[in-house]
Parts: sequence; structure tokens; C-alpha cells
Amino acid sequence: MKIRSVKATWLEVPIPEDKQHTSDFGRMRSFNTVLVRIDTEDGLVGHGEAKAGVGNLGDGKALVTLIQDELGAQLVGQDARRIAGHWEEMYNGSRTHFAVERGHVFPALGRRGLTISAISGIDIALWDLLGQSLGVPIWQLLGGKCRDDLAAYASGGWAPAESIGEQLAGYIEGGGFGAVKMRVGSADGDAKTSAARVAAARKYLGDGVGIMADAHGTFDCAEAKRFCRLVADYDLAWFEEPVTADDIPGCAEIRASTDIPIAAGESIFTRFDFRDLALARAVDIFQPDLAICGGITEAMRIAALATAQQIRLAPHMWGGAIMFAAGLQICATAPAAFTVEYSLGHNPLMHDLVAETFPVRGGRIDVPDRPGLGLTIDPDFVRAYSVA
Ligand SMILES: [Mg+2]
Repeated sequence: MKIRSVKATWLEVPIPEDKQHTSDFGRMRSFNTVLVRIDTEDGLVGHGEAKAGVGNLGDGKALVTLIQDELGAQLVGQDARRIAGHWEEMYNGSRTHFAVERGHVFPALGRRGLTISAISGIDIALWDLLGQSLGVPIWQLLGGKCRDDLAAYASGGWAPAESIGEQLAGYIEGGGFGAVKMRVGSADGDAKTSAARVAAARKYLGDGVGIMADAHGTFDCAEAKRFCRLVADYDLAWFEEPVTADDIPGCAEIRASTDIPIAAGESIFTRFDFRDLALARAVDIFQPDLAICGGITEAMRIAALATAQQIRLAPHMWGGAIMFAAGLQICATAPAAFTVEYSLGHNPLMHDLVAETFPVRGGRIDVPDRPGLGLTIDPDFVRAYSVA
């Protein structure tokens, strides 16, 4: 199963004005991602997704170059099924032979950041190819599934205190979700205003609904601790990215100060970053993004680390359909998984890029059993929104 070509396309899909939202990242005028396509000489096509930003935004030009001209170019002519070997080569570069012989890493300079996003997109496409070639879903190749479906939570929640309850209740009405996530943090101005929005949400929704709060890493340590104290009575399911990913000691300090579970990981890379979170006892929940952390191969390592540390796994799934489908494959098989994120912002890359849908029924989502990722990419959509 020889690789004929590795192509990458930056997709930028405009969001209609009445569907845009504003967060600490700014006004969301478009949804962006980088689509990876690997063709084999025997006619199979695998797809992956790589991200230059954790949310809607991100300039894909550098990522396209990395995927097509650097990492992908090395794969042409090689066997697509050698996924772990390709991962080692992309990560270790010219010293791969040392890494493989000696059993420890010899990484190239790009051991974090866009290079790992690029590896993620290629890795997902290789798993998609392998599954298709054998006629089985990826979860089957990862050891089989330990669950047939999962709870999904609705992710959104930008409204002010006066209307946050109504906004979140609207999500529940749409999919029967049992839990909803709202944004808090610096966009609110201060911890007190964020806490008042959480209080308003709990009052409106009542006690039966899970509420998560996501600060996008924007509080400092003291503000985050103040926020935890102010929302102590509102039974949060988790508090996500209280501080920047660069402040692991701060995150550990916040966790030690509260019994609200702390979640993080959407903007960090590889098992090594997740190991550091675990060793610092900084989080209760790992949130790897499959299009950022190193793909399916690396997410399985992160999932193993999670279960060994009694840390739960809730992948970051705000992105396109390919990243979402890859996340579902991991959640099907990883013992530590327990819920999936379902974005409720306007998300054309989730709903219009592929023919398949991911229906949420009674707040749960089925694990698909189609071969590979189980997706059919719409070529007209790709043509319409390609920018590089
Ligand atoms: Mg988040």
C-alpha cells in the first residue's frame, strides 16, 4: 500500500454574520482548518485534519507547507501501513535510527507546535487508510471498543448573565444534552462577572444538568482560585483551562485549592506535555485535540497515561468533522474516556465538509462502525473554501 501523494489544503469557511460569536479570541468570522489527503498507488484515499489554532481561527499556510513539502514529501513511495514508523521519522528526523535502535526519542527541533499539528493530520489520514484497506473502523485496529456510545455535551455559552440560561437551555432542547459548557474568563472582565454568569446559568437550568466552565487559559492563578471559590455552590462538572498551558504549577495550585475537577490539554502537544500535567497533579481530565496533539497514534499514548493516573479523558472536539471522527475512535476504545464535546457554535466544517452526520439522541452519540474514519468528503465544499 504505497503512498502516491500527500496533499494539504487550508479551508477557510465564512460564518454568516448572524451566526458569529465573540470570545476572548475575537469575533468568529470564519471557521478554519487544514485538510490532509493521502492517496495510495492502489487507489485508496485517506483524510486527516491538522490545526493551526485551537478554535475556529488559524492561518494554515505554514501548516500546508510543513505537511506537503516537508513531512509528506518524505512519505511518498513508502508503505502507508507503517504508521508508528512514520511517526518516529516525522518526530525524530535524521536521528530516527538512533531513536528506534535505542528506544528513546531524538526529536528534531519541531517537537512542539505546528510540526506536531502537521504530524497529527498525516497520522489521522494514515489510520483512515489502514481502516479502509482492511474494511474495519479504526477503533477495531486499536483493540476494539469498550463502549457503543457516549454522553455528548453541548459546547458554547458566550451570552451575558441575563441570557446565558436561555442560550444553554436552547442547546439542551436541540439534542437532549445532559451537560453544557459555557465560556468564562478574561472576556467577562473579572472573576466575579464570570461567577455571576455561572450562577445565572445554574439558576435557569436547575440541578439536573451538568455545567462546565472554560476560561480558555485566560485567568491568572489568583483570579482562577477566586472564581472557584465564588462558584463553589453551583456544582460545576469541570473547570477548563483556568490558566495558560505554560503555567502548570499555577494549574496545580488551583486544583489543590478546590474540589471542582480541573480539565486541560487542548493546546498542548505529545505525551510529554500530558505527562507533565499528570506529574504536577494539575488536572483531573485530559483534553487532547487529535488535530494538534500528534494524531491517533499519540492520543492512544496519552489515553494510556490518563488511565494509569486515574485521570479521565474528554478529547477537545471543537473543529472539523475529521478531528471529531478521530476523537470518537479514541473514545470508543480508551477506558478513561467518558464524554465528547459537541460544538454549538456555527460549524460548517463539522456539518458540511462530509456527507455523514453525527446525530445526538437523548444526549448520546453513537460510535460509528464504518471503515476507517467512516467519512465521505464533499469535493465541491473543499473546492469552494480552499485558500491554500
Ligand atoms: Mg476549551
